[in-house]
Amino acid sequence: MLDRYQQHVKICKGCRTALGNFKALEFGLHVLAVALVGVVAASGAAPLPKLQPFSVPLVCGAVLSTVFARWLSHFIYKTFYFHDYNHAAVK
Ligand SMILES: [Zn+2]
Repeated sequence: MLDRYQQHVKICKGCRTALGNFKALEFGLHVLAVALVGVVAASGAAPLPKLQPFSVPLVCGAVLSTVFARWLSHFIYKTFYFHDYNHAAVK
């Protein structure tokens, strides 16, 4: 069976770097989502008039970054771990 991560990504510097960057981006999106929800929750606990008009867009931003992070994690799996297609052989 072809295992792209074991056969190529692990030993390819370019792919390892790209994988690290994508994982960092995915992590960043999760942190962003949590931070946005945190801001909205905090503004609910101690209402900040300045933040009130932004609570809906902030929650939307949190949902969007969660959705994007999920898509990204699927993309990372498909690109770097998929067990069928061998990037090393295609190259
Ligand atoms: Zn590579």
